[in-house]
Amino acid sequence: MTAVLEAIDLVKYFPARTGLFAPQGGVVKAVDGVSFSVGAGETSAIVGESGCGKSTVARLVLRLIEPTSGAVRLEGLDVLSAAPAELRALRRRMQIVFQDPFGSLNPRMTVRAMLTEPLQLHGVVPPARHDERVAELLSLVGLHAESAQRYPHEFSGGQRQRLAIARALAAEPRLVVCDEPVSALDVSIQAQILNLLAGLQQRFGLAYVFISHDLAVVRQIATAVGVMYLGRFVESGPTEALFLRPRHPYTQALLAAVPVPEPGGRARRIVLAGDVPSPLAPPPGCHFHTRCPHAVARCSIEVPAPERTPDGGTVACHRWREIDAAATGAAHRAPENPVLARLQAAFTRVNDGARDARL
Ligand code: SF4
Repeated sequence: MTAVLEAIDLVKYFPARTGLFAPQGGVVKAVDGVSFSVGAGETSAIVGESGCGKSTVARLVLRLIEPTSGAVRLEGLDVLSAAPAELRALRRRMQIVFQDPFGSLNPRMTVRAMLTEPLQLHGVVPPARHDERVAELLSLVGLHAESAQRYPHEFSGGQRQRLAIARALAAEPRLVVCDEPVSALDVSIQAQILNLLAGLQQRFGLAYVFISHDLAVVRQIATAVGVMYLGRFVESGPTEALFLRPRHPYTQALLAAVPVPEPGGRARRIVLAGDVPSPLAPPPGCHFHTRCPHAVARCSIEVPAPERTPDGGTVACHRWREIDAAATGAAHRAPENPVLARLQAAFTRVNDGARDARL
């Protein structure tokens, strides 16, 4: 079966400037050799801390920015070499839902005008059928047909995200890139939007690329996960296998910081942040070696190549076979290694801070 989306060895370097009028100084390696694919009815999640390059990957696959090198194929068609007319046709088949539904919806347009725009642009249905199609789209995302006459500010945050999803669906895409689509929403609303996305995927066989910093959310929706750190995938694989037996020390630390759901327990929402080195000057060798409790001399010299794991995933770590990625549940136990414990504590503190800020 042909994948809906194939991203092959994507690289994006941005020129870095030292000051407003200063000459160019070095490059920021935002994305440095990322490959993945996603099929119809599947969700490929990219997870990582802020600044790891995951949103840049989202923009690269949609060709909203041009990559430094690499390839993107949508149902076998080369997106990056497509001429403008061909690209317009491809754009109909790949849509995006952003994190901030208010920012992504034009406040001066009624819902009807907003949903009619892609119908006209892509000639999805004849003009005589626009109103009927708008009502269908609103129904698909759980909103009343009367909503068509209202403006975005008249809706709640969750409803606005439903509108953003309806707008993405208007073009009848094959691929939807969801860039932190529930991060700005309350937990109860998050679940509703995730259920809506899952239902739409099942109904239309959509392929999703799901960008998130929230591992709990990713586990709910993704069929496969890629964990990014400073522009590279450090680990990828089928979701359940990766969550049950993470192989890379970074994945292990992230998973261990996800609270276990239990009555009276912490909220599952997590914001990943911490002592990430600058992407302008990432550590040589394995980028993670400055934070890794298992680092040895080789790690600061040699870039670890991705290797296949028995679970059908990949991991980029020189020592993954030696590292005890204990089986199911190990990721939730308190680590004995003090360095790993400090790293996990940092993630948990950030999570608690984010939760407290929301209360
Ligand atoms: Fe840690 Fe070395 Fe593996 Fe990098 S390659 S994750 S520094 S053990």
